[in-house]
Amino acid sequence: MTRWQLTKVVATAFSLYKRSGQCYYLKHMELNEYQKEALKTAKYPEKYRIIYPALGMGDEVGEVLGKIKKWLRGDDGVEEITTERKEALKLEMGDVLWYLSSLARDLDFSLDEIAKANIEKLKSRSDRGVIKGSGDYR
Ligand SMILES: [Mg+2]
Repeated sequence: MTRWQLTKVVATAFSLYKRSGQCYYLKHMELNEYQKEALKTAKYPEKYRIIYPALGMGDEVGEVLGKIKKWLRGDDGVEEITTERKEALKLEMGDVLWYLSSLARDLDFSLDEIAKANIEKLKSRSDRGVIKGSGDYR
């Protein structure tokens, strides 16, 4: 890449950054890119790998459920879910994703790999007419 081409790429990226109000790659992050970034902040003792993110993910799922429970309880004073509550749920779901990302790494999986396996499983069930029902390996 020539110096001129590099300048053009940087200028385009900066333009996208200015237009979006935030970093371009954060608006269009792929799962593995997210996992790579998230893992930069994954700091826990090696002896607690797997169990630490598993416990954390359960804790964060509880936070998601708690916010939905408070909405059902009527804490917002309106029947519809508020924008503020949705935003709070978005942040808590992000915490779930962070722990899932760490748990996946500790089990040697990428988030892309997990997502693809899940879609393949669901497509197979749908194609075979067994999307409803129970059993992990139906
Ligand atoms: Mg949280």
